[in-house]
Amino acid sequence: MTSSKPAECGGNTLGMWRHISTGHCARTATARTATAMSFGLDAAEDSLRAWLAECDRLNIDPRDPRRKTPAGHLQLPKFVKFHLLHPGSDCDEIFWQDPSTFTPRRGRNGYVDSSGIYPMNTQRLYTSDIPLPEIQFINALIDRKLAQLAQLDITDLSRHRYWRRVRLSAGLPLSVFADKIITPLWGWVRNLHAHAFHDYKGGALFGPKDTNAIDASVHLGKAGYAYIPEEGFSIAHILQKEGDVIGYHYDSGDNWWVDIKLEEIAPRDTSTGAVVVLDGAGGYPPDGESSGTFSWAIQLRKAAQSPAGKRNAVKVLFGATNYQDKNPPLDPLDYDFDLSDLEGMRKAIRDALDSKGSLHYASKKFVTPFAPMDEMNSDSSMLSRLGRTARNMKKGTAVSQTPVPGHGGMFLEEGVKLTRKDKPTNTACANCGTPHDLKACSRCGQRYYCGKDSQRAHWKESHKMICGKSAQK
Ligand SMILES: [Zn+2]
Ligand SMILES: [Zn+2]
Repeated sequence: MTSSKPAECGGNTLGMWRHISTGHCARTATARTATAMSFGLDAAEDSLRAWLAECDRLNIDPRDPRRKTPAGHLQLPKFVKFHLLHPGSDCDEIFWQDPSTFTPRRGRNGYVDSSGIYPMNTQRLYTSDIPLPEIQFINALIDRKLAQLAQLDITDLSRHRYWRRVRLSAGLPLSVFADKIITPLWGWVRNLHAHAFHDYKGGALFGPKDTNAIDASVHLGKAGYAYIPEEGFSIAHILQKEGDVIGYHYDSGDNWWVDIKLEEIAPRDTSTGAVVVLDGAGGYPPDGESSGTFSWAIQLRKAAQSPAGKRNAVKVLFGATNYQDKNPPLDPLDYDFDLSDLEGMRKAIRDALDSKGSLHYASKKFVTPFAPMDEMNSDSSMLSRLGRTARNMKKGTAVSQTPVPGHGGMFLEEGVKLTRKDKPTNTACANCGTPHDLKACSRCGQRYYCGKDSQRAHWKESHKMICGKSAQK
């Protein structure tokens, strides 16, 4: 292409063009000619001439935003603006589509990649005033993708960092499930904080009758104000079909939220109802250190971001009530929050099953001595700290005190069942955890078993050591 600008503009086919916008023509044509010359290309010039001839023939104004599709149809692009001198027919058909509804095509490898947009031969026409059709289109796709990304909820990633999978009987009473299964699974402290089951299908809450846990009274609103006493109801009352999810709220002050999903209902003949810990991920979350699901998630995020954040998270963890008897790691930066302790969970569940149910009306309290110990240990003093009187403490129960080492005489106080038995309808086999067909040990009457096999196994393992000797455990 060697013709000069005036000759081009004065040419026959360009007459109409000059008539429309001489100024624009001159500027664009100069730039185009210079580019075409420097690259030694003239294909675009030919295509431009053809396009203007076409406009002439069709008797349309080149300012008309319609362009020729590769299939040869004169069509209005839904989004992209073409350069005045660009016929369009060398472009991919997607440029006549709307990027907000555009369905990307698969590329040669069968995957959708780079929107399937191919390079064109018209780059020299476009400037910063009119970006390339590709850039116009892809920028709209980027906006659309960003809007989709903003809608994505990826909190699931942290929510599922901690999980446990367990097989048990749906006939298990809710109070036993909370006290002897859920609490040990998370390594928490039995009878320390309030809890409630949340039936997500209608919002009903189920919790222990008359709990005196401090968090339940201080955070009445977060504890749900009032709930149906869980005694008398079992898992099957609130989890009925596969896929059902209920919530478990633990510690109304700190707020641990656990979702419990019924994954699979096993055929009756394949299960005895024994509790089996199958799998899990994540260590034991801190119990009672102003933590809870959301603030612990933030601690873990900070731990992943910096050594200082990690040191702090390890400090929070080992300052928690359920970590009192654990040694902090020598190097906090080596600590793995994601390491789960399946054997530890199984042991904690076995210990819990081999004990009586907690007395939620006299839950655990940390007490710092404020008077001489004989005064502290008087019945009336102990009972008043638990919010009880000798009359409303149930028969066969007592107040137990356990020293908290390294805390200057502090002790843990709670109501326990001494000679009082669990109701057979509100307990589980001391050996395997099934709630079905329970009979008390005929000798001590303090443990329940589902049958001879469980009783024999448990006798050999541990019960012979305590049966009849002490009613306290
Ligand atoms: Zn059993
Ligand atoms: Zn016994």
